[in-house]
Amino acid sequence: MATDKHYEVIIIGTGAGGGTLAYHLAPSGKRILLLERGGYLPREKDNWDARAVFVESKYRAKEAWLDKDGNPFHPGVQYYVGGNTKVYGAALLRFRERDFGEVGHHGGVSPAWPLSYTDFEPYYTKAERLYHVHGQRGADPTEGPASAPYSYPPVSHEPRIQELCDDFRRLGHHPFPLPLGILLDEEDGKALHNSACVRCPAFDGFPCLVNGKADAQVICVDPALEHSNVELLTAAYVERLETSPSGREVTKVIVRRKGAVEEYAADIVVVACGAINSAALLLRSANGKHPGGLANSSDVVGRHYMRHNCSAFMAISRDPNPTVFQKTLALNDFYFRSDDWEYPLGEIQMLGKTDGEMLKGEAPGWAIWKPEFALDFMAEHSIDFWLQSEDLPHPDNRVTLNPHGQIVLSIQENNLEGHQRLKAKLEAILTEIGLHDVLMPRALYLGKNIPIGGTAHQAGTVRFGRDPKTSALDVNCKAHDLDNLYVVDASFFVSIAAVNPSLTIMANALRVGDHLLDRLGATGDSK
Ligand SMILES: Cc1cc2nc3c(=O)[nH]c(=O)nc-3n(C[C@H](O)[C@H](O)[C@H](O)COP(=O)(O)OP(=O)(O)OC[C@H]3O[C@@H](n4cnc5c(N)ncnc54)[C@H](O)[C@@H]3O)c2cc1C
Ligand code: SF4
Repeated sequence: MATDKHYEVIIIGTGAGGGTLAYHLAPSGKRILLLERGGYLPREKDNWDARAVFVESKYRAKEAWLDKDGNPFHPGVQYYVGGNTKVYGAALLRFRERDFGEVGHHGGVSPAWPLSYTDFEPYYTKAERLYHVHGQRGADPTEGPASAPYSYPPVSHEPRIQELCDDFRRLGHHPFPLPLGILLDEEDGKALHNSACVRCPAFDGFPCLVNGKADAQVICVDPALEHSNVELLTAAYVERLETSPSGREVTKVIVRRKGAVEEYAADIVVVACGAINSAALLLRSANGKHPGGLANSSDVVGRHYMRHNCSAFMAISRDPNPTVFQKTLALNDFYFRSDDWEYPLGEIQMLGKTDGEMLKGEAPGWAIWKPEFALDFMAEHSIDFWLQSEDLPHPDNRVTLNPHGQIVLSIQENNLEGHQRLKAKLEAILTEIGLHDVLMPRALYLGKNIPIGGTAHQAGTVRFGRDPKTSALDVNCKAHDLDNLYVVDASFFVSIAAVNPSLTIMANALRVGDHLLDRLGATGDSK
């Protein structure tokens, strides 16, 4: 049965982009509808069960996408209220100032954004405050200027990580507390009685059973829904967007929900489905006026897919590593260059602590490689690292649809030399400070066991820019080709830098939110 409902704003997707935008617009009093294909992530013991989360992939989307040769794979995406932030590691870093300009890499050029760090800075500050980012200004030598200190102190290191930090410093490096979005109040390294987060080992890649993680549902969607002008429909899969005969306005949002097709309409339609699904939705919505897909006269929709060159490693320490909450340290000393190389290498962060169950899930590879180590012993002695380097936006790294409407993801890895060198740098440092001299790859984190399935940091498929010939969105993230269509998720990225993407997605949602409030003649959240 078709329903016909008109809103002032429809936001499709409730993750880092859509959820943050909803929060910002909610106080305006405008009628806002959130359409989310998932439901609420169930709160249950399995949220913190490494086997359920990493080995059985309990919370991952069950759908299959295809690689460029037509082979199916299961992408690392989760469809819930809050989107992928329900499981993210909440490392919330700003792009560096230089990341907004053109940066030369060994593998090519990382293109300039149409806006600068200065344009984003006020929104970074707001997003950090909103998402309870705990950090320390000035500790990371590569960070840009900030208009305010962090509102929350850095998450404290446990003794083994403090020791690692001291070792890094002794060698002349500049480790810094990893900025984390977390609802933690602590004293002497212990969560206070009224802290939502209890500093458990399940921070990174797990959902939080006690809502201690600053995710988009907890921080933005739930508070937005306290406003009577905001509605949320879950299990509402947006199939396609229809336009007026001129093609200039989206006039209908076609939703599949509980087996029925429903239609909604709005003055402004915002797509925030995540970079791959947003591109897919625009491509699915092709019509006579937009034969290559909506907003795609430039033919860039779906192209320039990026997702970082990244890897997870564990180093085996001679001493046990009893750390519970390990993800507190990062190093950017090789972000733009190293002493022996003129190109960017990337960022080093700590990972959540390896657990014996996770290793058992990866066992076959390990068993061949290091049969002499018991997996539990390794987990007890491991120190775990996340290495992240920039991949470059290539037009042939892209999302398309096959004739059945299935998502096809074509990727050719690029700019890998910097990443290899980053790993070598970390290995050299760890050897110098007496850790085991081999870094062992961790496969299950972020779907690294199937490289193409590692879609956690997906970005860039509906890029913004000033030239309608080379970008799909203008600088306000409005489609060049349409008057009422916006895209406010990771799709708008022109390049991906080597820091985690979410803070930039959130800051941009607040920035676009200000533009939309102006357009609607309204005021919204002013925090
Ligand atoms: C394990 C893991 C760890 C991560 N760690 C970090 C980290 O430490 N720091 C960081 O910055 N980033 C991290 N990320 C990445 C981060 O989660 C994403 O960059 C971010 O969530 C992307 O925001 P988005 O708004 O683009 O999309 P999402 O957050 O994915 O939101 C998209 C939403 O749209 C919905 N949707 C999709 N298609 C449709 C449709 N057709 N109809 C209706 N709804 C739809 C989805 O269900 C989802 O809710 C991590 C990701 C993962 C998976
Ligand atoms: S560390 Fe804190 S935020 Fe993370 S899962 Fe545990 S309680 Fe939740």
